[in-house]
Amino acid sequence: MTVFSSRDFKDHELVAFGSDAATGLKCIVAVHGTQLGPALGGCRMWDYGSDDEALADALRLSRGMTYKAAIAGLNVGGGKAVIMGDAGRDKSEDLLRAFGRFVDSLGGRYITAEDVGTTVADMDVIATQTPFVRGTSEGSGNPSPMTALGVYMAIRAAVEHGLGYAELSGVRVAVQGLGSVGYALCRHLADAGARLSVTDIDEGAVRRAAAEFGAHPVAPDDIYGTEADVFAPCALGAVLNDATIPLLRVRVVTGAANNQLAEGRHGAELKRRGILYTPDYVANAGGLIDVAHDGPGRDADAVRRMTEGIYGTVKRILARAEAEDAATSAVADRIAEERIAGNGVAGNRISGRADAELAA
Ligand code: NAD
Repeated sequence: MTVFSSRDFKDHELVAFGSDAATGLKCIVAVHGTQLGPALGGCRMWDYGSDDEALADALRLSRGMTYKAAIAGLNVGGGKAVIMGDAGRDKSEDLLRAFGRFVDSLGGRYITAEDVGTTVADMDVIATQTPFVRGTSEGSGNPSPMTALGVYMAIRAAVEHGLGYAELSGVRVAVQGLGSVGYALCRHLADAGARLSVTDIDEGAVRRAAAEFGAHPVAPDDIYGTEADVFAPCALGAVLNDATIPLLRVRVVTGAANNQLAEGRHGAELKRRGILYTPDYVANAGGLIDVAHDGPGRDADAVRRMTEGIYGTVKRILARAEAEDAATSAVADRIAEERIAGNGVAGNRISGRADAELAA
């Protein structure tokens, strides 16, 4: 396994490997950038096929967090942890405590939180070993509802910009993945009068969404070709690729999944086909906004307002992309890089000044 010559290594500040023989812990913490503050990002537990796969995931995800924090106007940096193992089979409280000790040993350069394969209860266990954890049950808890709210606001912005509809009533949305975020997103969309097509590999989740939201069930492989106004990927990464993009029959793609574009060039390919893509890390920042404000003095209303601000951020990115005739993903990256280069000039974590900055 190589680190510095890995194609996913992008000048990460820190890559730390941790293991604990007694509990079977094998983990990687990647800190991409701390220009805006200490690195904050979830801990993913996944049964990776190889060490290389785990490293690539940690490198890619942590870099995404740097951009997500920057564009959301947060003064935190980008980091991510991966624990190698099957969350259902290999996770134990002892393993989580060993992970907590490892995070603690990094002295606050990385702050952990929930991600795929870890839960709020797991954060409580980790918190017995380190203060560098967010999203515990006594703190901000599960970030998924805030992520879903942010994605909903992003869909509203993209539909308004791309289709000219100020309301979602009657707008057709195809949702892939009905987990914590996808299901909550469906509720927002159904409340707004959207018409849903849904898929999940969990047939029970599909049945529930059909019963609760009147959603039209679709087989997992058929979701890409489903005719709709919006495709909302809320399951896996890399779902926008050479095989799936030609199948799409939508005008907008906006969803929660991280790293939706298999490669950067797929952003340009969506543009070429006239499909408006909302960069994933812009749409799904609500959960990060939530955990970034965990702690004493947390103002839940302000967190909600800042998450709703994703609407304005998306509209500005889409407008700038149109004006520059550029891919939306490239424009979002550039705005995030400008803020990082400005080294946190937005200053205030919660006042929404970053929003004003983006408008300037
Ligand atoms: P989750 O594990 O609760 O839900 C994912 C759902 O996708 C599950 O129901 C699963 O069965 C389904 N799924 C898996 N493979 C599928 C396939 N091939 N086709 C259709 N469905 C499939 O995860 P979540 O917390 O809802 O997160 C969803 C996505 O959003 C993930 O990519 C995650 O990284 C991203 N995300 C989540 C948050 C958050 O706050 N939870 C924040 C930012 C980004």
